[in-house]
Amino acid sequence: MVAIPAEKLIDFVTDVFAHAGSSQAEARRIAGYLVTANLTGHDSHGVIRVTSYLRWLAQGNLKPDQSVDVLVDTPSLAVVDGRFGFGQTVGPQAVAIGIAKCKENGLAAVALRNAGHIGRIGDWAEMAAAEGLISIHFVNAAGSVLVAPFGGVERKFSTAPYCVGIPRPGQPPIVLDFATSVVAEGKVMVASRGGKPVPKGALIATDGHLSEDPAELYGPYSPEGPRDHSKGTGAIRAFGEHKGSGLALICELLGGALTGNGATRIGRPMTNGMLAIYIDPARVDPAHFFDGEVARYIADVKSSRTVAGVDDVLIPGEPEQRTRAERGKTGVPLPDETWAAIAAAARTVGITEERIRQVTA
Ligand code: NAD
Repeated sequence: MVAIPAEKLIDFVTDVFAHAGSSQAEARRIAGYLVTANLTGHDSHGVIRVTSYLRWLAQGNLKPDQSVDVLVDTPSLAVVDGRFGFGQTVGPQAVAIGIAKCKENGLAAVALRNAGHIGRIGDWAEMAAAEGLISIHFVNAAGSVLVAPFGGVERKFSTAPYCVGIPRPGQPPIVLDFATSVVAEGKVMVASRGGKPVPKGALIATDGHLSEDPAELYGPYSPEGPRDHSKGTGAIRAFGEHKGSGLALICELLGGALTGNGATRIGRPMTNGMLAIYIDPARVDPAHFFDGEVARYIADVKSSRTVAGVDDVLIPGEPEQRTRAERGKTGVPLPDETWAAIAAAARTVGITEERIRQVTA
């Protein structure tokens, strides 16, 4: 295990993407969001993704320095095409459009299609919350067919995340943000690279038996080699039995079909689609009942007596804030295998051995 200070890791990942063809500004933005995912504890959406982003770039499925195309533009609605740009570039562009329209009208929706991987959806809820706005996000990852529906053994859904952000004056926002699968694919990837194992029964084999072995998803793999889910035959299970499976379906229909990204299917490049709805609480509730009621209710929820072994009832977003505070001090922990895979990918775009050594020195 190596622990790398966040700033040092951001500088290194910036160098990697600048070598791979992104402008310096885009490279730093990608690095910033990836390292933030690590800082918030979501290693599945952190720098481990460098390897797949470079692969998609080389395949031409991801394009540097894109701007969204606005296809539909009304006072409260936009439909935007990410043009296969990095999610860390076209994602915030789409969110900024939603924020501007919501501030104008009190309510807005933005449908984003053909975005590169937009990473941790909580980033976009936090961006809206920083402007005082509530946001609801339905997302799919078309092309990334990984998840078996309730009662099925075949891959039909993506890990289709769902996210809601609620701002709180003077306090961090509430951010509920999760994949609608038992685990995000990246968590299987982390497990396959020596990180935290996936929970029991997170995966299902084609014969219906439950498993925790990443090889169900990736097929046989070497320690530093790529993880390609098209090589495996098993699936991740949808979370929450029929209810989670139903929410995954809704994410596919709203984040995929309605946005124009397309519901998940085999044989197309991995792109994220996101339907985001923005609500300005100040416009819904000029008397500011909401803020006080949220504060009162959260305190009440947190006052619950806890089960044995649990110190604290946490609200969505709190685990990420805690991990961020801790990793800000201790650095980003990366299993040796993950670091080796990132270093191997960095070499392919011309990063020198000396530069790689500096990071862990
Ligand atoms: P997860 O299972 O860790 O759940 C995270 C959510 O649960 C957060 O809202 C967190 O605050 C809350 N939480 C965690 N522990 C808690 C506790 N003890 N008490 C109360 N709340 C708690 O998340 P996941 O499903 O592994 O998803 C990880 C990330 O992957 C998310 O950021 C998601 O957006 C992202 N993702 C992205 C894509 C994509 O295509 N871009 C696909 C899937 C997932």
